[in-house]
Amino acid sequence: MTSTRLGGLDDFRVPAALLVIAIHTGPLLSMSPATNYLLTDILARLAVPFFFAVSGWFLLPRVQQQGMAALLPFLKKILILYSISACLYYPVKIYNHTFSWTSLPRELIFDGPFYHLWYFPALLLGTLLVCLSLRYLGRRGTAVLCAALYLFGLLGDSYYGLAQAIPPLYRLYEALFQCFDYTRNGLFFAPLFLLLGDRAGRNPPRHGPQRCWIGFGLGLAALIAEGLAVKHFNLARFDAFYLALPPCLYALLQGLRTLELPPRPGLRAWSGAVYILHPLCILLVRGFAKGFGQTALLVDQSLVHYAAVVGLSALLALPFALLRRRRPTSARSRAWIELDARALRHNLALLRERLPAGCTLMAVVKANAYGHGAVEIARLCAAEGVDAFAVATVQEGEQLRRAGIRGTILVLGYSGPELVPLLARCRLTQTVVSAEHAQLLDGCGRRLQVHLKLDTGMHRLGIPWNDAASLASIYACRNLKVIGTFTHLARAGQRTLEGEHATEEQLACFRTATERLRCAGFDPGALHVQSSYGLLNYPELTCAYVRLGIALYGSLSAPDDHTRLSLPLRPVLALRARVVQVHTLQPGETAGYDGDFIAVRPCHVAVLAIGYADGWPRCLSHGVGQVLLHSRPVPVAGLICMDQMLVDVTEVPNVRPGDIATLIGRDGDAELTAARVARDAGTIANELLSRLGSRVERILLP
Ligand SMILES: *Cc1c(COP(=O)(O)O)cnc(C)c1O
Repeated sequence: MTSTRLGGLDDFRVPAALLVIAIHTGPLLSMSPATNYLLTDILARLAVPFFFAVSGWFLLPRVQQQGMAALLPFLKKILILYSISACLYYPVKIYNHTFSWTSLPRELIFDGPFYHLWYFPALLLGTLLVCLSLRYLGRRGTAVLCAALYLFGLLGDSYYGLAQAIPPLYRLYEALFQCFDYTRNGLFFAPLFLLLGDRAGRNPPRHGPQRCWIGFGLGLAALIAEGLAVKHFNLARFDAFYLALPPCLYALLQGLRTLELPPRPGLRAWSGAVYILHPLCILLVRGFAKGFGQTALLVDQSLVHYAAVVGLSALLALPFALLRRRRPTSARSRAWIELDARALRHNLALLRERLPAGCTLMAVVKANAYGHGAVEIARLCAAEGVDAFAVATVQEGEQLRRAGIRGTILVLGYSGPELVPLLARCRLTQTVVSAEHAQLLDGCGRRLQVHLKLDTGMHRLGIPWNDAASLASIYACRNLKVIGTFTHLARAGQRTLEGEHATEEQLACFRTATERLRCAGFDPGALHVQSSYGLLNYPELTCAYVRLGIALYGSLSAPDDHTRLSLPLRPVLALRARVVQVHTLQPGETAGYDGDFIAVRPCHVAVLAIGYADGWPRCLSHGVGQVLLHSRPVPVAGLICMDQMLVDVTEVPNVRPGDIATLIGRDGDAELTAARVARDAGTIANELLSRLGSRVERILLP
């Protein structure tokens, strides 16, 4: 899944790689050692933590969501890169007579064999440590642990002067330095930055780009001040750790995110190659300079030396960037869903504007967010400040928690007692649908927060609104804490006199029931009744929540629905499929199963790589449904298959394999709404969308 436009992170790899080379070459050394210190020993210290943070950003959410198994491909990749580097540089060490068997284990685990190659073992050890800690200590415990390890590392590094003043501490560090050369390693240095990346990825900036960059500027100023102070007081044993480094890096990550740039996998590969190859380039440049008697220029002139190393590294890394760029991406090769993040934000803003004061929007993300992708939609909503969600099942709620969604998650459906441990562990709010249900939940002995569901006339789930004895029995349950009460309107979408009358009656029953609860001394908690049509047709109701599903996704259930409140909502989802083949048929030839499509004239049929297994209803076969090609509607030809379907493109010139068909959404001036397609299929948009298949990749457009 390509998430929001995080290309800023890719772009910053270039300056970060240049800074790493600067650390190892000292570009300003021959001109001004003080300025060089500022550059390589203070500013450039951002570079390696940046790479750790980016790893944490992408890896840790996956591990927390999918378990430790998700760590294996990452570890494998880093091990391979580490092995390549070791094979590259151990021969150099042997040649230089700096190789020793006794230091091999500490090198491989902590210090790295050459220059900055400590990065790879630190990444391996750091990710293992953070992942295990997240699993056993939780997020807060891990944050405390990583911060403590960092502080300990700090005292053995830039602030070693302080540790030396305390004899027992000094002895402890000296003992540890028998095991590794620096505290800058996978135990003390990497974990905090990995976790910082995870946090930055999870929490989009609360403020605009300006504030982020001002924060970064302030962070840099603090970093410089700290670096100069450390030097002034001569505290450092080595200078990798600074107190200002983590906050400064965090602001940088947030700033880069606000740039919203497209991703650049080529740069990712390039910077990785520069990282591994530049020590080799340093050796080559020095060797060349020696061989050709150019040492005075190519080595002693530090800036020329730096430029030569950068140029050579960039050149040698170029093939990796090109290789990576050429690699085709799997997305969009067959059928895919595009999610328009802007449309969702627009709908959220529009709907929230219409809510009465004190009323909170509860985003209904059941059934994989109506086929849109529950995690993606919940994350986008959370980034906009939504803190109440509704799902149908406990497992759906668990999925959201694993993805880091906070706030209230209300399970709307029935959950049996066997699910109570999971409900409690994930801090989900359960709907209580009857007195018996309450007893079963209560009997599990775990504290649960619940909402009461009242049946006010729909006769689906709920406690009969006038059943005072049942309601009182639920309040007597020791383990259940009622924090909300709601009902569901059966006919909020019907604007007939009969429908409106029935709705008024349901509302009256709900009001009476909640008033009676209060009179009996029971607190019904937060009240809510409206779903999308409830809000759009009864906007004047004042509740604690509205539970919005279909409207949030920018659709109506049916194309001709007219609601009292008519909002310019925008569809969030588009469904597209690739044309994979085009056939020309002569009159009398047939196409598809059962020869269902018969050419009555010479015609062209295009094969689309999408079928009913992807959620495209089979009842749209033989011309009942249509799709858009080159911004024009074309009819479905013959019977829709499981994985493919045919469309008759005779009227549209030049349809070729690789063209993109739009099945739901806009193509130029033409649009097929979900509600329209659903009507053709004899259903409503809610069903059509929620049945879109898991095989269809979801792509988030920023
Ligand atoms: C699905 C559901 C909703 C959301 O309905 P929309 O019409 O899609 O807004 C609200 N409340 C309950 C109880 C639901 O089951």
